Amino acid sequence: MSTHYALGIDIGGTNSAYGLVDKKGNVEYENNLPTTDFILPEDLVSAIFEDLKEQNLLDSIIGISIGAPNGNHFTGNIEYAPNLSWKGIVPLAKLFHSKFNKPSQLTNDANAAAFGEKLFGNATDLQNFVTITLGTGLGSGIIIDDEIVYGEEGFAGEYGHIRVIPNGRICGCGRKGCLEAYASSTGVKRSITELDSENKDDSILNKIENPSAKDVFESAKKGDLFAKEIVEYTAQILGSSLADFACFSNPKAYVLFGGIAQSGNNFSERVKFHLEENILHVLKGQIEIRTSSLHNRNAAILGAAATVFLKNN
Ligand SMILES: [Zn+2]
Repeated sequence: MSTHYALGIDIGGTNSAYGLVDKKGNVEYENNLPTTDFILPEDLVSAIFEDLKEQNLLDSIIGISIGAPNGNHFTGNIEYAPNLSWKGIVPLAKLFHSKFNKPSQLTNDANAAAFGEKLFGNATDLQNFVTITLGTGLGSGIIIDDEIVYGEEGFAGEYGHIRVIPNGRICGCGRKGCLEAYASSTGVKRSITELDSENKDDSILNKIENPSAKDVFESAKKGDLFAKEIVEYTAQILGSSLADFACFSNPKAYVLFGGIAQSGNNFSERVKFHLEENILHVLKGQIEIRTSSLHNRNAAILGAAATVFLKNN
């Protein structure tokens, strides 16, 4: 009997990756194509189709799920994505469906990450959890009572844009003081210039040209006092915000994903510390901070594929 695979696709501004994944999370085949090579989205869909046809894999596909920036789960359209060369509204789920003749859906990256943790990652035992993706921005995928929360327009979980510092840093969304302006790789980088400290002048970060968030975490490990302050500041803002968020969703755990989260246990321990410092009494000691186990695997493809399997249960 042949194996059934979900086709998971991750559309990015530069590259689009795709793979065939079985129900256990084994990636049977994967490949990627430069998104910018395709003037029309139809051309990318055809290229993926032809590749899988050549591999003789088309018949084994049971469903398709696409993770994309500005993806609207309800319409299956990418809508006005600033980082893609395809402008306006792109009916991507429909394009895949008509080419492959298989059920096709679009999902946003943070929700796909939550599905990926649920089926293949560090949340397989949980019915109530929230994934927090700490990348260029901060995304979240909320699972309550084993169901993903979409909300009316599909924008539930835009937790990166909850304002945590009144009149704080300007955010990419145009408002001030959003969580992702602090707790993301961009936020950590901003802290290098924007955080005041008496240890700043002596920091080894001054010797690095254009230091990144990774440099901050590595310098902190080496004992650099200013870098340690930035890590603590980031953990404090994130932990405190997650304490507030727990009042809404009462999760058993937050699963942190992304370079910052994976930079060592110390960061998640500090997030946990600040969460406990700020948590509502009845929730004290109840919420775990976990780190994703999908970090070194192709999390975006696995997440999209997990969406197919969880929908078909
Ligand atoms: Zn914002």
